[in-house]
Amino acid sequence: NGGHGGEVQPVNGGHGGEVPEIRYTKLFINGRFVDAVSGKTFETRDPRTGDVIATVAEGDKADVDLAVAAAREAFDHGKWPRMAGSERGRIMLKYADLVEQHAEELAVLESLDAGKLLAVVRVLDVVSCVSSLRYFAGAADKIHGETLKMSRQLQGYTLREPLGVAGLITPWNFPSIMFFSKVSPALAAGCTMVVKPAEQTPLTALFLAHLAKQAGVPDGVINVITGFGPTAGAAIASHMDVNMVGFTGSTEVGRLILEASAKSNLKPVSLELGGKSPLIVFDDADVDMAVDLAVSASLFNKGEACVAASRIYVQESIYDRFEKKLGDTMKSWIVGDPFDPRVNQGPQVDKAQYERVLSFIEHGKAEGATVLTGGKACGKGGYYIEPTIFTDVKDDMIIAKEEIFGPVVCLMKFKTEEEAIARANDTRYGLAAGVVTKNINVANRMTRSIRAGVVWVNCYFAMDNDCPFGGRKMSGFGKDLSMHALDKFLAVKAVVTPVHDSPWM
Ligand code: NAD
Repeated sequence: NGGHGGEVQPVNGGHGGEVPEIRYTKLFINGRFVDAVSGKTFETRDPRTGDVIATVAEGDKADVDLAVAAAREAFDHGKWPRMAGSERGRIMLKYADLVEQHAEELAVLESLDAGKLLAVVRVLDVVSCVSSLRYFAGAADKIHGETLKMSRQLQGYTLREPLGVAGLITPWNFPSIMFFSKVSPALAAGCTMVVKPAEQTPLTALFLAHLAKQAGVPDGVINVITGFGPTAGAAIASHMDVNMVGFTGSTEVGRLILEASAKSNLKPVSLELGGKSPLIVFDDADVDMAVDLAVSASLFNKGEACVAASRIYVQESIYDRFEKKLGDTMKSWIVGDPFDPRVNQGPQVDKAQYERVLSFIEHGKAEGATVLTGGKACGKGGYYIEPTIFTDVKDDMIIAKEEIFGPVVCLMKFKTEEEAIARANDTRYGLAAGVVTKNINVANRMTRSIRAGVVWVNCYFAMDNDCPFGGRKMSGFGKDLSMHALDKFLAVKAVVTPVHDSPWM
């Protein structure tokens, strides 16, 4: 098994779930599935084999114009922003129930398109989608302003109004979760929207648009344009009639989105971008627990996670034990068909990503890092890569600095707490970090000193609808999840009236 401990299982290794008929492959505009104006389509492929799953409508600027016009009409004259919040909430709860009822179909589509472990998608991704809708459904009738006692002659209040048409551009690593991380708060706020899923994984967003219609979300409120970033995505970002953009994706594209806003209508933008997150293991840690945590923190979802702990720092007195245990643990790690429940790691999402990750691995070798496990592609066909752990990594190596977004981990040694803080923060990113220690004082100092959107202590990937999520530095700004996410879709308006001849104050 090539030293990485795993072997590629045959495709379709008895998952029990049948691949559903792919029913939704067209653009969803104003409540109808339609072809692209150009008539063009593109192929979405199964990462297990590289085979085509379906051809999907390829929207571009002309289709974005139609979708924005539908969303504009639904916002300016439709009932969604005008109905009581409780009524929006009721429809969102129905939507959540429908997603739950179609959980298996959604899970299989997601695994097929993105190469994600079906067993995990069932219990994590689909469940998160349903709970996101329910969380924000509960918020829809609790959108309050403030009353302002301004001066003796003036009083005021604030209204929190839906911002308008939202442009929502999402990545391929958690397609359904990312869909709802934007759509749920936008719906609750009373916005209408145009969603552009990633071109690698267009299928679930279209299926979810169909369920929205069944739930009673009015036509024009949710529109989905499948297509490519530089055409469909860019048309949304630069559109004069789009009132905000919620984006999750790479830092490079985040910069383009900001530029497009600056050059068009100065729409507010929220950016959830890349990361190079550190996990810091202190020498009082339980080594077995720390290794388990490190493996899941770095290799979960085949390393295709923006918060992946791709830099692992271990304090020197336990480093050798940690390294040995990590190597041993990886011997039972199985790379293979994501539909097989025994498998730990599926294929990378597509050929481009697979080649990109392999080229980072070659860089690491060329720079002089040592391959502890993995280090190459595996399997016959498909986009499988061995989980690759590098040791002897220096901070200035490319593999220690760049986001790889694959199953590649840098294992490093540190001496002191001060050194760990300095090296953890020595990155242009600031998305997430993890600390493993039993010492509350160390934990407190570390959590205050690390510049990141979230710091997990003795856990990793611990997320909740009520816990804000989003980075700082070049990992972006603006929060998904929690009431902070709702704020992105609301404008605050102040209303002021004079108070005449008040005998009091
Ligand atoms: P990407 O930036 O290439 O693409 C993201 C989305 O942007 C896709 O829908 C794509 O079509 C679109 N896009 C591409 N070019 C565009 C343009 N010029 N204008 C408008 N839209 C454009 O990112 P990706 O490769 O799909 O996803 C991986 C990246 O996403 C990683 O950097 C990862 O860290 C990041 N990510 C961040 C978070 C987070 O919450 N911070 C979550 C998941 C992924």
